[in-house]
Amino acid sequence: MKTRRPRADPGRRARRWLIAGYRLGVLAAVFLCLHRVHVSRMERRSGDLDPAQVLAQVQSFLPAAATIGSPSGDDRLLPVLDAAGEPVGWVAQTFPESGPITGYAGPSNLLVVFDNDRRVAGVGLVGSADTAGHVAKVMADGGFVNQWTSRSQASLGAPSEPVIVSGASQTSEAMARGLAARFGASGMDRWFPEGIDLETIRPCFPAAAGVQGTRVVAADGRMLGTVLRSVDMGVAVRGFQGIQDVLVCLDPEEKTIVGVFLAGSRDNPPYTRDVGDALKFEAPFAGMPVADVAALETGSTVMVSGASRTAEAVEDTVKEMLRRHFAPPLAPPDPFGWREAIALSWIVAGLVIGLGPLRGRPRVRAGFAVVSVVAGGLWLGLMTGQDQWIKSAMRGSVAGVAIPLLALTAAAIVIPAIFGKNVYCSQLCPHGAAQQWMGKLTTRRIALPRKLHRVLLAMPWTTLGALWLLAFLGLSIPFADAEPFEVWSTGFIAMVPVAIFLAGLALATVLPQAYCHYGCPTGAVLKFLTSAPGRWTRRDAIAGGVVLIAWLTRIFA
Ligand code: SF4
Repeated sequence: MKTRRPRADPGRRARRWLIAGYRLGVLAAVFLCLHRVHVSRMERRSGDLDPAQVLAQVQSFLPAAATIGSPSGDDRLLPVLDAAGEPVGWVAQTFPESGPITGYAGPSNLLVVFDNDRRVAGVGLVGSADTAGHVAKVMADGGFVNQWTSRSQASLGAPSEPVIVSGASQTSEAMARGLAARFGASGMDRWFPEGIDLETIRPCFPAAAGVQGTRVVAADGRMLGTVLRSVDMGVAVRGFQGIQDVLVCLDPEEKTIVGVFLAGSRDNPPYTRDVGDALKFEAPFAGMPVADVAALETGSTVMVSGASRTAEAVEDTVKEMLRRHFAPPLAPPDPFGWREAIALSWIVAGLVIGLGPLRGRPRVRAGFAVVSVVAGGLWLGLMTGQDQWIKSAMRGSVAGVAIPLLALTAAAIVIPAIFGKNVYCSQLCPHGAAQQWMGKLTTRRIALPRKLHRVLLAMPWTTLGALWLLAFLGLSIPFADAEPFEVWSTGFIAMVPVAIFLAGLALATVLPQAYCHYGCPTGAVLKFLTSAPGRWTRRDAIAGGVVLIAWLTRIFA
């Protein structure tokens, strides 16, 4: 006679799902909180102005200045206060907006000091990655640094023709662009913002009516040829003082160069003019087969006496542009090869064993532990841990994480919450499996005193709490050092993980799964997800409370 399976209690099932959802939600809330804290810390860091560093400069423009306060508004201006705490002006730096705007060799961070009416009292320097000589020359130029004096804060973001310092034009223009960018101007990091002027390429394509991408077309849509633009291709060869905006025109078959032109330049104007004229009137590249360009010797084609550096930069730019244009497209990296397929098969096999009837068979478990150690650990080096979790939380993304590691992490976190079974620890984790086998080496066992056992049981939670607290505080320690997992992929390199690795395996011979019980922070999280499925426990209340505190301190920080 067939026996009927008792029907699952729907209330119990719902409770189970609710608790599983709550626990995963707690985890997600911690991840999200760390991400938000990290992002706002990064934003603050890039916009921080050290008052102690700039106070003397501020005082040179506002003699009554005694201290600098904290930023109060969206425009991130810091109040400047006198000895009585009364405001006497405002101060700002041009970073982070000026960061992407490179002068001769790097970006500069200017200090802009305002009076109480928010009119510029003076401009100074916070720091620069540009060449020291150029920076000194620019900052010593009164015409440059005083060009903003008395202008209102609101007018600084309006595009205008800045005063440029001759002999340091690139550096001074980058500084001026950076200042405009800081106060709202857009596109300041594009040195050649205009499109291709048809008149420039008309000598090569008299019937040109437009440019579509790199195709030059006539009024009736006929393709006349190709035009390549260096700034669009990211080719920036520096001449005497700056880069050029080079146009290379090709015939419709793209076999021959029909002309090369300078559409713009950040180089020394006389050199630019001479080289531009040579390209236009002497047309040294015209008729040259594309195939021959790669073999050209630098300095052999554009001959302009007195402007050789600029001319050579144009030659190198043309060579690089053609190399990139005709380079075969890179084959996309194979995101899924046989190694990944084996890794996923191992994970699936572990899940099948851990969730199915084979779970209770000691021989299957012991056999699969060998697979996990050899394939998952020694060969693939696949393990999920706090370093990976914390870094993904900070980034707010799992992009770039290899698919097998992603699948392993998902299996480790989601399966315990849903099925109440910690399959990762019981079947997949190579370090757990290695401890299993170490435990078989001897029959000798030691029993820890009850008190010590209780104290040690708190270790994984303490380590977990400490790691995440340090991450929340922004202290960049090597989180991977707190666990032994990295040793499986990198070998015996870092001292602390190696010590944890060896000590854990040695202890496992007399204390079964010693590291799992008394050391592993990742195991602690998985235990929290697995424990008492469908039942609200003290741990749930504590975890919820901790997350609430994390979010509240984030809001009030
Ligand atoms: S407790 Fe830690 S070391 Fe042990 S099996 Fe789980 S993740 Fe691996």
